[in-house]
Amino acid sequence: MSLSPDSFETREAIIAACLELNRSGVNQGTSGNISVQVDGGFLITPSGVPYAQMTPELIVRLPLDDSPPEPGQMKPSTEWPFHRAILNAKPEMHAVVHAHPVYCSVLAMSHRPIPACHYMVAAFGGTDVPLADYALFGSQALSDNITRAMADRTGCLMANHGAVVCGETLDKAMWRMRELETLAQAYVASLSIGTPRLLSDAEMAEVLAGFAEYGPGRARG
Ligand SMILES: [Zn+2]
Repeated sequence: MSLSPDSFETREAIIAACLELNRSGVNQGTSGNISVQVDGGFLITPSGVPYAQMTPELIVRLPLDDSPPEPGQMKPSTEWPFHRAILNAKPEMHAVVHAHPVYCSVLAMSHRPIPACHYMVAAFGGTDVPLADYALFGSQALSDNITRAMADRTGCLMANHGAVVCGETLDKAMWRMRELETLAQAYVASLSIGTPRLLSDAEMAEVLAGFAEYGPGRARG
């Protein structure tokens, strides 16, 4: 998958995705943040700017290494360290979406990862959606905990915080975030009526084998 250019359109797409997060109820306020890798760096939402007031020039461009960012930009989201860490750890993933979806947060507050309670767990790359250990927002420790939890996954819950997913494209990352919150909602509801029956490792292996190409994207010609 080729990288998006740092263009007006890419920046507009990030803003549209932020607005979509809140419109769909997956996030509220400015707690969510989004990044997209571009040539020579990545674009990320600015810190604390209401999405409705965000304009393409307010999106911040950061390097993928420790070199200093271009001066004169807005402050990036405080969560930029884990966005950068995920993009660096997963070269095939070009977008990261973080939010505080209610049902993901409910599970994250109880330190409960999502087990193989539904086949859509496979959309996150394995037999569960793991939980990253708690660490202070914006900290290097949080970034380390997330990259550890997501070593072989495309999403995780974040203890006492929320959720983060990545995608080959921004569309795919947004799809994963919506699916994760739906999954969390169904899992929480299932716990309220008893104990969900989990899929076996063999059943999940079968799903995972068919899942490599699942989700939005162009058909292979
Ligand atoms: Zn957060």
